[in-house]
Amino acid sequence: MANRDLIGEFVTRTLAELRAHYPRPLSPAEELALIAGPIRQCRNCDLALTRTQAVPGEGHPRARIMFIGEAPGGTEDETGRPFVGAAGKFLEDMLADIGLRRHDVFIANITKCRPPGNRDPEPDEIAACTPWLRAQIAVIQPTVICTLGRFAMQTLIAPYLQISKAHGAATERDGILYIPLYHPAAALHQQRLRDTLIADMRTVRDILVARGLWQSP
Ligand code: SF4
Repeated sequence: MANRDLIGEFVTRTLAELRAHYPRPLSPAEELALIAGPIRQCRNCDLALTRTQAVPGEGHPRARIMFIGEAPGGTEDETGRPFVGAAGKFLEDMLADIGLRRHDVFIANITKCRPPGNRDPEPDEIAACTPWLRAQIAVIQPTVICTLGRFAMQTLIAPYLQISKAHGAATERDGILYIPLYHPAAALHQQRLRDTLIADMRTVRDILVARGLWQSP
């Protein structure tokens, strides 16, 4: 069975088991909270050995747009919240530029635990962690997923893509529009990337408007 099928089966089974435990339908917020619990306890890969705490992600439980980065950094590992350092502030500024607030969107990472020394996540760590993100996507049902940086793009869209060529271009799959963006942390100290990222974020808004998908939160 292909890895994608296995992940789909895991997500379907996990959500079904979760829902079967409760006598009434759960709201998306409740389901996300129930998914976040086992993420915080998860020891499915070696990143559990070095993390301070896992970072499940946060935001609107029915967000139309999800932003997915690579992995938590030091501040995220300490606080348990995604994108709370300088890169997070830059992301919030760009959201404000297109008329959104942080709590209008859902923000998460490919791996929920920080790789030591902020190294790149290993393929087995990404494979172990992706089902958690898939479960969150299945609950939230976003219209658009913006990947932030190369790792998120190659994990969620296609492994052969180059961010320098693919950024800002939309790809539709399984009813979701995927749009790769540069990572805000990479753009913080490079004016050229910063300008590109700001322009791409406005492109995200324009794509949504052109497709009639833009809804004021
Ligand atoms: S990175 Fe993901 S799979 Fe690994 S321990 Fe953390 S939550 Fe579990």
